[in-house]
Amino acid sequence: MPPLQSKARAPFYIIISMDKDIQAELETVKLMLGIYCRDKHGARKLCPACSELLSYASARLAKCPHHPKPSCRNCATHCYNPENRARIAEVMRYSGPRMLLRHPLYTLKHYLKK
Ligand SMILES: [Zn+2]
Repeated sequence: MPPLQSKARAPFYIIISMDKDIQAELETVKLMLGIYCRDKHGARKLCPACSELLSYASARLAKCPHHPKPSCRNCATHCYNPENRARIAEVMRYSGPRMLLRHPLYTLKHYLKK
């Protein structure tokens, strides 16, 4: 569970940081899907299946009940349905290590956050 004390202290900050977290998480998912799709599906831009997974992820993120939002990998709420969860897990497993090579700074920031 995220700490609750910060919520009472600074509501504005929470709203802003929440948006940033969601943006950052979504940006990461997008990059990872891009790598995965290009390597596995040979598509220049996201293939229909991967775009669908991306919009699913973005819809789930927008509904995340945690403020501030924890990194999804550390989250106790399993908000993805089992099928999409398995798909996104595969994407992460594949693209995670490759992110480090292609977007080192970005990945570092993402991992430091947890
Ligand atoms: Zn694809």
